[in-house]
Parts: sequence; structure tokens; C-alpha cells
Amino acid sequence: MILLSVIALVIGTAIGLSIADVDHIFPFLTHRAAITHSFLLPLIAYLVVREREPWAKMGVVGFCLGMIVHISFDLFPRSWSGAALIHMIGFGALPPTASILLICISMVVCFYLVFLLVEKRTDLIAGLIALCIAFGMASAHETVFWWALLSIVVTLVIALLLPVKTNIISLVQSMLKG
Ligand SMILES: [Zn+2]
Repeated sequence: MILLSVIALVIGTAIGLSIADVDHIFPFLTHRAAITHSFLLPLIAYLVVREREPWAKMGVVGFCLGMIVHISFDLFPRSWSGAALIHMIGFGALPPTASILLICISMVVCFYLVFLLVEKRTDLIAGLIALCIAFGMASAHETVFWWALLSIVVTLVIALLLPVKTNIISLVQSMLKG
């Protein structure tokens, strides 16, 4: 069962890292579409697995973490295309401030969903390892490192300050005590 959870976590993280840019494929989506570059897909995935088996939850934990890493780097694009970053169907390009806000809120929501899904200390540790590996792998193809890392740390702290169902603070404390 643990092996299944690890496999689901790895696959979920890989999907989360790459799924946002499938907007390239669809002719009705502009690159950096809000549909794929926001908390929407992780939220749907959360709603699907929240009553399911632990391994399925870990798959979505990975999905959320992969998405966080992907959009954290999209906060700092190599070439800022035009005046906007995120595109919304029926609206067009969002202004830069709204785009940045949407990405940051999405990162907080994704971390929050992770907190709702993790049940054990080991889930949290596995998630943390997956986040670090995903960030390390993604950063190899990017020009920024510290700014993206800072955005992850800041949104993580904000998510930690939100009231959560699972007592994530006590899980963290028990992790620190060892
Ligand atoms: Zn992207």
C-alpha cells in the first residue's frame, strides 16, 4: 500500500509539473490559460479523491505540488509576453497584477488542498521530498531559482496560517520532534 502511494505520488507530481502547458495543444486555449494555470484542475482532482483510498489522495498531493512548482516558475517568465501572463476564456489576457495574484492564490489553494489530503506524518515527509525533487528538476530548465523558491515558501507559509481540517501544525511539530 505504501509502494502504491509512492508510485501515485511520483506520477501525480509528474502530471502536475507538465499538465498546465497542455494548453498548447488545444486551439481554443491561449498559452498560460487560466483553466490549466490555476487551482481549478487540482481542486477538481481533490473533489474526486477526497473520499477515496490513501494512495489516490497521495496522487493528488503530488498533482498539487507539481502544479505549484510549475506555476511558481511561470511567475517569472523568461519573456514576458505582451502585457499579460494568464489568459481567460471570454476575457482575454489578464493584466499582470491580476495574473500574478491568480498564480499566488492558486499556489496557496494547492498547498491548502495538500494539507487537507495528508493524513500521516509520512505523507507530509513524502510530499516535502516530492516538492524538493520537482523543484530541483524544474529549475534545471529555468533561468530563475531563488525568486521561484521564495514564492513557494511565502505561499506555503500563508497556507499554513489558514485554518485546516487536518491539524497540519501538529503534524509539522511531531515531524520536528522526530
Ligand atoms: Zn506554464
